[in-house]
Amino acid sequence: VEEPIHEAVLGSAASRGDAPALIDGVNGMTLTYAQLDTFHRRIAAALAELGVRKGDVLALHSPNTVAFPTAFYAATRAGASVTTVHPLATPEEFAKQLRDCAARWIVTVSPLLETARAAAELAGGIREILVCDQAEGHRSLLDMLGSTAPEPRIDIDPVTDVAALPYSSGTTGTPKGVMLTHRNIATNLAQLTPTMPMGPGDRILAVLPFFHIYGLTALMNAPLRQGATVVVLPRFDLDTFLAAIEKHRITGLYVAPPIVLALAKHPAVEGYDLSSLKYVISAAAPLDAELAEACARRLGLPPVGQAYGMTELSPGTHVVPLEETNAPPGSVGKLIAGTEMRIVSLDDPGKDLGAGERGEIVIRGPQVMKGYLGRPVETAAMIDDDGWLSTGDVGHVDANGWLYVVDRVKELIKYKGFQVAPAELEALLLTHPGIADAAVIGVYDTDNNERPHAYVVRQPATPDLTENDVMEYVAERVAPYKKVRHVTFLDAVPRAASGKILRRELRERA
Ligand code: ATP
Ligand code: MG
Repeated sequence: VEEPIHEAVLGSAASRGDAPALIDGVNGMTLTYAQLDTFHRRIAAALAELGVRKGDVLALHSPNTVAFPTAFYAATRAGASVTTVHPLATPEEFAKQLRDCAARWIVTVSPLLETARAAAELAGGIREILVCDQAEGHRSLLDMLGSTAPEPRIDIDPVTDVAALPYSSGTTGTPKGVMLTHRNIATNLAQLTPTMPMGPGDRILAVLPFFHIYGLTALMNAPLRQGATVVVLPRFDLDTFLAAIEKHRITGLYVAPPIVLALAKHPAVEGYDLSSLKYVISAAAPLDAELAEACARRLGLPPVGQAYGMTELSPGTHVVPLEETNAPPGSVGKLIAGTEMRIVSLDDPGKDLGAGERGEIVIRGPQVMKGYLGRPVETAAMIDDDGWLSTGDVGHVDANGWLYVVDRVKELIKYKGFQVAPAELEALLLTHPGIADAAVIGVYDTDNNERPHAYVVRQPATPDLTENDVMEYVAERVAPYKKVRHVTFLDAVPRAASGKILRRELRERA
């Protein structure tokens, strides 16, 4: 798709008129499609008048709000590349990102202003900090709505110009700036939406963050492109989330495995009317088939479908199409149109593997990122000369093309020459009724052997669950080399905003 992202998403917005585009899930404030269209154009004009130029990096630092998409599309229409920032970033983390991408502008919200100011001070090079709402001494996007400046005529080349510069989650190392062109994002949107259709009348709950590529695509670009209504929540809190589904009659959920876990197991779910829900889709981290099953059964829904992708892939490559109710349990989906995949040997990356064989997933297609900003070495290590991107994920495909993701190559635990996937043990642990949550890492013992170590959160109802109970439960159900060798009890498993287990933090603890 050779179109700027704001055109690809908002091309039909004006004609949708008074239909609600966004609703604040807490205070009910509504933005119509006509307003979204007019507002983002006025703000784009005002930004251009202020001095925003093509290629400038603008940092968007905000939790999910009704204003977030307006700010995003206004910035891209003014020619800027938007780098989205975690709203809980410390000034130091934020400054690091600002410096890394040489950002010139910050758009934030008044409750985060102090952090933004501190970050700008540390990073240098910021021309102005604007706010979406109102704060003394700062220009507000609200005031820009009155702008009479002419709409800027920016010549955007969708193939080379960077629309978004999200930072990868930093699950495995330092977050890197991922250059996604207008074409990367717009094309991936066009590839994904036929398999996940939404339309006027559908109400999607945006509880995962817009700043992460999954939220940006599934909860912002995709529904707004298709005329659905996005109900916005600023953060995940189980009761607020369940109440919002009931109150706004939410039809579709795009979530990550921890929310599927809560929907399947948490007692609070019984207290709400969730009958408006038509489907639940999970992505971003491994989801166990039994857990997906338990969630769907409890809510009386079709099976929880999955999608697979990564920031570097704009983000999607595989989905279980919505209309497909007979996908094999545990599969993350089928390859989307216009994308190629190979499974290559972990020992010999030159060797392609066949159906059923486990290897690294490699991908080629129009959604492959332009590269990591300012990191040619890392980019070259990731994408070969023929355009194939190595995902770092282990998977296998069945004879019908369904993909299964096992775990990340780097997370596999090598126990006496065998490979153990933490995700498989985590899924098994979660089937124990006394376990609320679990994470597994490999820990080296004194003989320098790596052994599976489980971190377990007990269910409140079973406070006396012991280390032995947990180890026996696993031992009875897996081959001996996969046994859990140590157990530590925790209050909560550390997780990234996208729902991924931060195994790195557990490793530091160990
Ligand atoms: P970093 O690259 O900075 O370490 P990250 O890889 O966690 O962080 P993301 O781009 O947010 O950053 O996540 C992509 C990864 O998420 C994939 O490589 C894969 O490991 C995992 N993932 C995504 N979807 C699924 C899924 N359906 N099942 C299993 N894993 C998934
Ligand atoms: Mg990654």
